[in-house]
Order: sequence, then structure tokens, then C-alpha cells
Amino acid sequence: MKFNENFLKIESSYLFLNIAKKVEAYSKANPDKEIIRLGIGDVTRPLAPACIDAMHKAVDEMSKAETFRGYPPAFGYDFLLDAINENDYKAHGVELDNSEIFVSDGAKSDTGNIGDIFSLDNKVAICDPVYPVYVDTNVMSGRSGEKDADGKWSNIYYMTCLAENNFLPELPKEKVDLIYLCFPNNPTGMAITKDELKKWVDYANENGSVILYDAAYEAFITEDNVPHTIYEIEGAKTCAIEFKSFSKTAGFTGVRCGYTVVPHELKVDGVELNSMWARRQATKFNGVSYVTQRAAEAVYSEQGKKEIREIIAYYQKNAKIIYDGLKACGLEVYGAVNSPYVWLKTPDNMGSWDFFDLLLNELQVVGTPGEGFGPAGEGYFRLTAFGTTENTEKAVERIRKYFAK
Ligand SMILES: *Cc1c(COP(=O)(O)O)cnc(C)c1O
Repeated sequence: MKFNENFLKIESSYLFLNIAKKVEAYSKANPDKEIIRLGIGDVTRPLAPACIDAMHKAVDEMSKAETFRGYPPAFGYDFLLDAINENDYKAHGVELDNSEIFVSDGAKSDTGNIGDIFSLDNKVAICDPVYPVYVDTNVMSGRSGEKDADGKWSNIYYMTCLAENNFLPELPKEKVDLIYLCFPNNPTGMAITKDELKKWVDYANENGSVILYDAAYEAFITEDNVPHTIYEIEGAKTCAIEFKSFSKTAGFTGVRCGYTVVPHELKVDGVELNSMWARRQATKFNGVSYVTQRAAEAVYSEQGKKEIREIIAYYQKNAKIIYDGLKACGLEVYGAVNSPYVWLKTPDNMGSWDFFDLLLNELQVVGTPGEGFGPAGEGYFRLTAFGTTENTEKAVERIRKYFAK
């Protein structure tokens, strides 16, 4: 008997576990101090009433034999596929067939599972810093090689994203097969313009690479030259898979719904990746609940759109409060404009965990050390807009008082 030894290689929840431990210890020692958490990568506003109404209605349907639904279609109900297609693609000038859209329980599963359809021999390129799921799932499947002394995996091509290049990755200098891109980015909060993304699409088409494009934060885009879907870029259909999620868009982190687009035109050795993903999903996944898909459909209703815009605006305001407040006291800050994340350079070249300790111990503000997102995150720090506006203002005021001296 042998287990998958690759599972021993990852320190899966090390980052958030470590943070939780430190906060708990501080809180125990200082029970009278009010801690403000701006480290959370989870939404906090309740679901839009339009979604709640849709869910209630769907639950009632499930209570009667005539309207009860059993297993959903493996790749999503037509009513949701139609709404996604119309609003997230056609509205941006992109023509898709519903059979190119796969509804799922979220982008974490899909970005994690997509590796199933690719050979372990593929060379993977991943940004540093990065959403840890891309790295860890490649490690688990045995595609990463071994960890070097510098904390990097021997068989992963790292695309370092630093302030010097506006946190955009540079095109790989060697041939890579799979390229994970996430824009607007978690953790840096930075977006990519259409012109910049075109370079990646061209690279992928020229080299026969596949781009795995995570657009989970699409709803936060405010700038005109930033693409809402990679398929706005000419040539993307022959080289890109796109992941989207209702989690950050509509507060579905607890409801669970997202989708993945695999265009029919995307082929490897003449084989459609669309049929590979269909096979993978039909075999290992049994669809998203009817109630959830009705809630997701309501995201695109007139009322739903209006309510969701207000919720996003609430977070966007928080992001701006953090960004402007920190900038005003001389800190070097990035992100926020098209994203709920603010990425900051730690002052005086402090280590990101030292900065975490300082914010916790001196200001009782919790953020996320950049180092937790990869070696290049060292010296950076992430704050999120998912708190309440009241707490966000309070936290920024504490930071301002401390650093503006
Ligand atoms: C939050 C997040 C997601 C969404 O994950 P779900 O499983 O849909 O909740 C995907 N990608 C990134 C980078 C994220 O930060």
C-alpha cells in the first residue's frame, strides 16, 4: 500500500492557519483590544435580495412532485447557460455556444481540477506571488518536481511580478505549455490591459501553449481598457480556458457556483479540450443544485444587477479608502482600482511577517503577509476591502496615525 506522496509536499493551509494562530494568541493575551480583520479573502455582505427570492422560489418548487428536480444537467441548466452567455459574453462582443460553458461549484475546484486533462509532462508557468491553488494542485498531481532551497518548485516556471513591471508577468523565456493567469489579480489587485493580454494570447498561439485564465474578480473592473473576458482578445479561443465565479461577483462564497469556458476551437493534437473537460466533469462531478443555479440566474436579472452593483460599489469604496489612506501617509500601494485588494510594499524593507506582527501588535489590524503567496511576495502585504466601511476607516486611521509621523 502506498499513498500519493505528493500530498506530503504541500503545506496547504499554512498561511491562514499561521495567521489565525497569531491572532488568537494576541487576542488571548489582550482581551480588551479591538482587532480589525482586513486579511479576509471572503465577502461579508449578505446575498442580493433578488438571489434570495429566487432561492426561496426554487425551494418551493422542490417541495412539489410536479416541479421537483433531481440530478441537474451535468454542465448546467439552460436557463443559467443562456444568462451567462448573454450577459458575460454577448454583451462584451463575444460569441459562444452554450456547450462551451460548464457550470460548476466554483473556480477553486475548476482551476484545481483542470490539470486532470493535461499530461503530467507539461511545463507549467505560474505567477509569483499567486493564488496558492494553482501551485498546490500541480504539486499534488506530481507536476511540480521538488522544492528548492529558495522555496521554488524545480519544474515550475515562475513569472515574478514585482513593482518594477507593474506586477505584470513577462513572457516566458523558455517554452512553457500551461500558463496560469489571474486578472484582476489576487493578491496584487492589479489588472491587465487588452494590449498586454494580446501579447499572451499571441505567445500561446505561437507556442501551442494553453492559458488558464482566472477572471474571478471581473466584477471589480472599472477601467475601460481592461478586458472582462479573455475572449475579447482576438485569437483567445484557440488558446485559452476561462474560469469565472459568482463568489466575489455576487457573494456566493457560501452558496457555491461558478463556471468554466472551454471553446470548441481550442484543440491539442487535433483533440478538443472541450470534450476532455466534458468527460472529466461528467465522470467526477454531478452538477450544481437547482436552487443554487436559480440564485445564479437572478444575478443577471434587472433587479439582481442593480443590487449586486451596489454591493460591489460598497467594497470598491472600502478599497479606495485603504488605497488613498495608505498612499497619503507615504506608503507604496498598488491594486484597488479594479479589485478588492490593496497590495503594499512594506516600509523600510520589512519582512512581510514582521510587518504582519507590527500591524497586529501595535495597531490591532490583521492583513496577509505577501510571502504567503510565494517567494516574490516577500516584502509586500495584502489588505482587503471585504470588511465593513466603518472598520476599514478605523483601520486606515490607525495605520495613518502610526506611519504619518
Ligand atoms: C476567490 C477566488 C476564486 C473563487 O473561488 P470559488 O471557488 O469560486 O469561491 C478563484 N480564484 C481566485 C484567484 C480567487 O481569489
